Amino acid sequence: MLIKRDCAHCGAPIIWLDTASGKMMPCNPKAVYYRHNPHGKGRVLCEKYRQVFACDILNTSLGSDGIGYVSHFATCPKADECRKRKPERQKLEGQMRFEMS
Ligand SMILES: [Zn+2]
Repeated sequence: MLIKRDCAHCGAPIIWLDTASGKMMPCNPKAVYYRHNPHGKGRVLCEKYRQVFACDILNTSLGSDGIGYVSHFATCPKADECRKRKPERQKLEGQMRFEMS
């Protein structure tokens, strides 16, 4: 499933993708190449496995493990505001924090 919608907080175009756990996750629409790295700073929702992996984001397909989408919460300039204003989303964001920690 894929839902296109502008971010309500910063206005950037985002896509919502379903994950293996059945939850929807807001992502930046541009797909990126990534390489698995448990210590990497990137958090990418893998297109194939529908799971978020810690990884390095690459500029090229060379040496990549696949294609995925970067969580919009990781890049949204208003992510903090978003958390304050939408208490009903705390569950999702709690999980996001866990995945990003
Ligand atoms: Zn945003």
